[in-house]
Amino acid sequence: MPVKKSSAKSSKKPASGSKLKGTKYVYGWGNGRADGNGSMRNLLGGKGANLAEMARIGLPVPPGFTISTEVCTYYYANKRTYPTALKAQVAAAMASMEQVMGVKFGDASATPLLVAVRSGARDSMPGMMDTILNLGLNDQTVVALERATNNPRLAWDCYRRFIQMYGDVVMGVQKRPGEEHEPFETAISQLKHDRFKDGEVEDTRFSTQDLKELVARFKALVKERTGQEFPNDPWKQLEGAVGAVFNSWMNDRAIVYRRKYGIPAEWGTAVNVQAMVFGNTGNESGSGVAFTRDPATGEKVFYGEFLMNAQGEDVVAGVRTPQPVLELKQVMPDAYHELDRIRGVLEAHFHDMQDFEFTIQERKVFMLQTRNGKRTGVAAVRIACEMVKEKLIDWTTAVTRVPADQLDQVLAPIFDRSALKDAPVIATGLPAGPGAASGKIYFNAERAVESAAKGEKVLLVRMETSPEDLRGMIAAEGILTARGGVSSHAALVARQMGKVCVCGAAALHIDYNKMTLSAGGRTYKEGEYLSIDGTSGAVYAGQVKTAPSEIIQGLLHGDTAARNSTTYKNFMQIMTWCSKVTRLLVRTNADSPEQTSNAIAFGATGIGLCRTEHMFFEGNRIYAVREMIVAESYQERKNALNKLLPYQRDDFAGIFTALKGLPATIRLLDPPLHEFLPHDDVTIRETAEKIGVKAEMVSRRVAELHEFNPMLGFRGCRLGVSYPEISEMQCRAIFEAAAIVQKKGIKVRPEIMIPLVGFKKEFDLQAAIVHRVAGEVAKEKKTKFTYLVGTMIEVPRGAITAAEIAQTAQFFSFGTNDLTQTTLGMSRDDSGSFLPKYQEEEIVKKNPFASIDQAGVGELMKIAVKGGRSTNPDIKLGICGEHGGDPDSVKFCHRLGLTYVSCSPFRVPTARLAAAQAAIADAKVVKKK
Ligand code: PEP
Ligand code: MG
Repeated sequence: MPVKKSSAKSSKKPASGSKLKGTKYVYGWGNGRADGNGSMRNLLGGKGANLAEMARIGLPVPPGFTISTEVCTYYYANKRTYPTALKAQVAAAMASMEQVMGVKFGDASATPLLVAVRSGARDSMPGMMDTILNLGLNDQTVVALERATNNPRLAWDCYRRFIQMYGDVVMGVQKRPGEEHEPFETAISQLKHDRFKDGEVEDTRFSTQDLKELVARFKALVKERTGQEFPNDPWKQLEGAVGAVFNSWMNDRAIVYRRKYGIPAEWGTAVNVQAMVFGNTGNESGSGVAFTRDPATGEKVFYGEFLMNAQGEDVVAGVRTPQPVLELKQVMPDAYHELDRIRGVLEAHFHDMQDFEFTIQERKVFMLQTRNGKRTGVAAVRIACEMVKEKLIDWTTAVTRVPADQLDQVLAPIFDRSALKDAPVIATGLPAGPGAASGKIYFNAERAVESAAKGEKVLLVRMETSPEDLRGMIAAEGILTARGGVSSHAALVARQMGKVCVCGAAALHIDYNKMTLSAGGRTYKEGEYLSIDGTSGAVYAGQVKTAPSEIIQGLLHGDTAARNSTTYKNFMQIMTWCSKVTRLLVRTNADSPEQTSNAIAFGATGIGLCRTEHMFFEGNRIYAVREMIVAESYQERKNALNKLLPYQRDDFAGIFTALKGLPATIRLLDPPLHEFLPHDDVTIRETAEKIGVKAEMVSRRVAELHEFNPMLGFRGCRLGVSYPEISEMQCRAIFEAAAIVQKKGIKVRPEIMIPLVGFKKEFDLQAAIVHRVAGEVAKEKKTKFTYLVGTMIEVPRGAITAAEIAQTAQFFSFGTNDLTQTTLGMSRDDSGSFLPKYQEEEIVKKNPFASIDQAGVGELMKIAVKGGRSTNPDIKLGICGEHGGDPDSVKFCHRLGLTYVSCSPFRVPTARLAAAQAAIADAKVVKKK
């Protein structure tokens, strides 16, 4: 293949080869120069920007050009048409490529220029959009290529691949419902049967004649399925391919992916057109994918894989299992050393772990792509820490390098060592996504999704995965494949999602038709259990018990061996850096001493929400609760409350002790009372017996308390306003517990929180009870209390009238679960039936119950913050809805200037990281100013 440096003279010209008036849509690179650079991701997409950057720093990149994302935006805004200036700009850029390569597009008399057409969004979306290789081949140029290379096999192999890709992507020749295999793959298997009586033999067994036959069969297939001839004109092919890439931005899997990763549709994709180099010219050529460090563990080793005599897609598709890149050292030492050198150049230039694709054509290395490598949470933490040691980045950058939503991966379980001893290993594959997963095996994504929807733990087992398996992968606990390497689709996607993954476990024999898997002398049917260890690559028969990660073992169980592990040390290092920079504190939502101590071990600075009602379900106390609810007079209710008081007091004493002086926001009773009542005859009778009343009476009270809309009914402070004795009992329990714990020399800082306040008067009535009881208990116990009384802001009226409420409230805590449901008028319990469609249609970018709806709920929060501060400048502000553990929401709360966020104990590290990242982002903005 010629890659002539024949046009040295042309090197003075801009890389796209022409100066055109109006908007520039096309950006070229080649010959050591580029129109664009690495900072232009928004316009050129990640791939295009980095190709330009690599060209600029002198790495061996085949020439090409990028059609900008603006064209994609234009395309969708203008009924899938292009700006008029585009055609001429593309022609000029093609001419420039022809010059650099010394060959012509569509040339039937000499080596033709062939191009690859690839998508390239701002953030990489591996495998989600379409790619077409070897474009420019037709019945004439294939002969020219055959002649020029003296390699007929190569020419025809390229041609059949091109028809296959183009037929699939551009012309839509794809699997129909009910077909298990792609039609082109079926045609390949059929020819193998015809020639070798075996549909499974390697493709390399095909002769040139066979490949010609395949080309004929492929074309016939295209004609049969589409009614159209395969296009012979290279320019038509190019037009079709560019359109297909833009169209693929809106394909189903790209939409699913964008939804999962919160990528806005309006970003659009760029299209990259690049001169082909060939990894399949023979045994002096090959293709590979590599990482500058191990993306699963983060270890600093040259990591990746290659296939000799193959094109790039063979490596990623997982059809042939590639060799580890380190083996290239033996196979082709020069190429290995060149790649290792490039590995160093890339890290030194990009200051991050890179994931790159390369092709070796006749012993010469070409770079086809580089990007910041996707990595597991574990790897992200390790790489960030080690790059600081290597002085590649500073510690604040390290903190921003760990995606906050991936941090929970380092807390994921591992297999219990003792349980593993009895678990037979039935196969071993490549460890591609760390962690331990056990589940029922499913061989098809749809069935995996169905099973997971029923609440089952699922392992998706495939020969190899492809983007259409994405939904199944999302639903599964883990992914297991029989073919493919660590850069196969399964591995890439699993790593990014933080799924446990073992791939290329070749000892597995999967039969899709029978829905079975055979390994280790046994056959497993769909629905049976297997377990996989994505850290070691082992596949175990049956269900294996899991154990907590080293961080959990070290932090929560004080295990010394775990504390000495690299994962533990790196995690702690990141957390220490977070503390250095953070402004927003992180508290926890906890209702028990154990949850409290766990959260403190993770770095929580107190309790932001203690839901007292959760304590009502422990032991036998529910009967006392029910007695209180069914009571028909004040005295009866008081009697029942007196039974509850000691329980609550003990609970609070336990929590105060675990807090060791940290503050605790304790919320008075909130849920609708009927949540505590029995609803079936048996439990009604049992309850009646326990509390010594007639079953009919309990039934009647249950019926009386029935509400059509309990979430908007008799709940929150409405309970305390109607039955002040309930609030009184709870306050007494809190202050008596405080007195007990204070006596032991432990500081206690209760912050009593009134739920669901919409009117100042509601708050004032409840606050009066708190202050009165605090005074009474202080007097009785001869002690003093330091406490606060505040409210939740969780209904819009509370937010809007915050200035008034803050005249008496000492703190606000945003209950964004209820604030979201009341602001959006969407039931938090019932929105599952329509929210997925809302996300699909991008009516909401993210689930508003998981990530704050900043434009709606967020605005109300701003009003409340401003209002609250206007009458009470020192008001303490926090959030305790589920959003307190969501990184984007945490960052939003930082910008709002809240004092703290509160989240469940295991999300504390994530929230701390997000809070630190928000502070670093702030500092950067200040610096820029
Ligand atoms: C809230 O509404 O955000 C909240 C924390 O309270 P709960 O979820 O208990 O209603
Ligand atoms: Mg609430």
